[in-house]
Amino acid sequence: MLDVLIIGGGPAGLSSAVYAKRAGLSVTVLDKGASECQITKATEVENYLGFKSISGIDLHAQFVEHAKSQEIPIIKKSVVSVEKTEEGFKVFTKKDEFECKHLILAMGRSHKHLGVEGEDRLAGAGVSYCATCDGFFFRSKMVSVIGGGDSAVSQAIYLSAFCEKVYLIHRRDEFRAANYLVERAREKNNIEFVLNATVNEILGDNCVAGVSITQGEETRTIACDGVFGAVGEKPNMSFVIDGLNISPQGQIITDKYCRTNINGLYAVGDIRDRDVYQIITAVADGALVVEGILKE
Ligand code: NAP
Repeated sequence: MLDVLIIGGGPAGLSSAVYAKRAGLSVTVLDKGASECQITKATEVENYLGFKSISGIDLHAQFVEHAKSQEIPIIKKSVVSVEKTEEGFKVFTKKDEFECKHLILAMGRSHKHLGVEGEDRLAGAGVSYCATCDGFFFRSKMVSVIGGGDSAVSQAIYLSAFCEKVYLIHRRDEFRAANYLVERAREKNNIEFVLNATVNEILGDNCVAGVSITQGEETRTIACDGVFGAVGEKPNMSFVIDGLNISPQGQIITDKYCRTNINGLYAVGDIRDRDVYQIITAVADGALVVEGILKE
């Protein structure tokens, strides 16, 4: 039986693994794959200490390399269910079963949908949620980015480097994104801010042709070839754990050592209920959770 099993190989999961291993605990990470991990969608990270500027993909690759250098197994498996036992937990994937004394949930969050007509129908045909993954297809084209947080503004900046024009469509005239990002976006002469605007529909037959927006009294169409949704995130909780305390937003409630209300069960990173969702806060959870395990 493993001392620690971690579900999720993002910054929080891998940091927890490194801390657990260095505390002398046996540890394994189960991970769906890098494409599921939010950090790999960050175009440019400039606030992770020690790296003045690095892409999310490269930073994640360094985290994986660090964990592997400690001989921590990272197994590509998707968890389908979890069962509490007397000694700890049984974790089931489609074909395998793992047993552990302590289980750490580190599945992170994934993008929310806009919930407008045309979004699902044109997914993969011009609708995307990841500029780093799909931006390449829109070289010299017109795109719209929807949202007003760090993700939306940084995706708009990234796309502005090679797209003809980027419309940054936000429902208010104030941004949730960091000021330095908004200022940087304002300096780009091919980013147009479309503020106080509600998206009604994504238009197009077989591929995106534009977005219908309403601004005040006026409803109009912005012609574009691609639409990048960046309207926030939701926790990745694809299996149920009976009795687990979660917030109304679906985030797992923990104490300062990332302990949930279930003995031996922990949650780290963006899946837990917290005020700040940053790579550095997710990584810091690795130290906290292992402290919690050692106190058990
Ligand atoms: P976010 O901060 O929650 O922002 C979501 C944005 O989408 C908000 O501006 C919101 O508008 C808007 N929105 C929500 N629902 C909408 C809808 N149905 N239609 C139109 N607009 C809608 O999400 P995020 O930008 O994905 O960031 C998530 C977390 O990751 C944040 O804590 C962020 O700081 C962090 N992050 C950090 C970095 C980094 O490099 N440091 C990069 C990306 C993300 P309102 O403002 O009106 O609510």
